Amino acid sequence: MSDVYAQPTTGVDATDVRALASYTTLRMGGSAGRIVPGNSAEEIVRAVREAGIRDEPVLVLAGGSNVVIGDAGFPGTVVLVRSRGLKVVAEDADTVTVRVEAGEPWDELVATTVTNGWSGLECLSGVPGSTGATPIQNVGAYGQEVAETITGVEVYDRVEGVAGRIDAADCGFAYRSSIFKYSDRWLVLSVDFRLARSPLSGPVRYAELARALGVEVGDRVPLADARATVLRLRAGKGMVLDAADPDTRSVGSFFTNPVLDRTAYELFRERAADLAEAPSWPCPGDMVKLSAAWLIDKAGFGKGYPGPGGVAISSKHTLALTNRSGRASAADLVALAREIRDGVHSRFGVTLHPEPVLINCTI
Ligand SMILES: Cc1cc2nc3c(=O)[nH]c(=O)nc-3n(C[C@H](O)[C@H](O)[C@H](O)COP(=O)(O)OP(=O)(O)OC[C@H]3O[C@@H](n4cnc5c(N)ncnc54)[C@H](O)[C@@H]3O)c2cc1C
Repeated sequence: MSDVYAQPTTGVDATDVRALASYTTLRMGGSAGRIVPGNSAEEIVRAVREAGIRDEPVLVLAGGSNVVIGDAGFPGTVVLVRSRGLKVVAEDADTVTVRVEAGEPWDELVATTVTNGWSGLECLSGVPGSTGATPIQNVGAYGQEVAETITGVEVYDRVEGVAGRIDAADCGFAYRSSIFKYSDRWLVLSVDFRLARSPLSGPVRYAELARALGVEVGDRVPLADARATVLRLRAGKGMVLDAADPDTRSVGSFFTNPVLDRTAYELFRERAADLAEAPSWPCPGDMVKLSAAWLIDKAGFGKGYPGPGGVAISSKHTLALTNRSGRASAADLVALAREIRDGVHSRFGVTLHPEPVLINCTI
């Protein structure tokens, strides 16, 4: 199919048209019962409702860049989110609010906003996947997250069988989380973003990005410079999809950064007393966020660390687990993830949690 999300079928049985590996950036996952493309909000809702009437389980899949699908596949209907479109729904002298259909490819949206002089998404350049998935885990990178610009989400409520709007304040946005994550209830149909009319980015918050731009944290830069620099930094870490780069056959970061309460943090510091001070960031409620990449590295799992069947930690980024061979199974990936999680726990007493949604597999 000519759809922008379909992945090349390297290492996948190309004769199996229901092989979900073809629809995921990890190139893993067994077959679906059936796959139904939804090319508009109406088609997506209809496909989900019809599967419900048949009493079949439903998996909503868009770019497949944040899922690990087990080797047994998904024994139900997979609805592909392929709706496209963007329209301006409100504007004034300073801001513009755009309504974006769920299937709109995220990075194409970011490129459009940069071209139009709409500021607020530029640091999220290069994140793979669809616009409709960005509220699911409050997508964030380089000091920006979508919770800052989303004003509301149009949803279909699968429990009540009605469509409606959820305002941003009710989306439960938190670090890599929202009310939508791990919930089968909500189908995201479109997302509203309020963006500033400005040729300049928001204040650059991420020290590495500021350094690369040659500015101070808090400065603003031309939107196009922010986008180009983020894309360059991400590519250096294997965080921009590239069919020629096996380090990008991943879900991006596999683990979220752990957030500890004060007691757990002090216990961690005792366990890490023999090492240089670990990077940490204060969080609301007297919590402390640690770097999962640092923990993994210091627990003995460096870049390139191999697992079974051709999976490995990315050679460019400690947090990305990759299907390096292109032929590894989800069981292989899960085995490596378990080894890392258990290794970090036994070294530091800190439990890492996966960032992607696991479907018919578990770590
Ligand atoms: C190389 C790489 C780099 C990445 N970098 C980042 C990063 O910097 N920051 C970040 O936050 N993430 C990052 N990710 C993760 C991923 O790109 C994002 O989470 C993205 O938003 C997922 O979009 P998707 O369309 O691929 O979702 P999918 O993987 O298709 O789906 C993810 C989950 O959302 C659900 N879902 C998808 N669409 C809908 C919908 N319309 N309605 C209801 N549920 C839906 C699915 O059922 C599933 O549970 C990265 C991934 C890769 C591969």
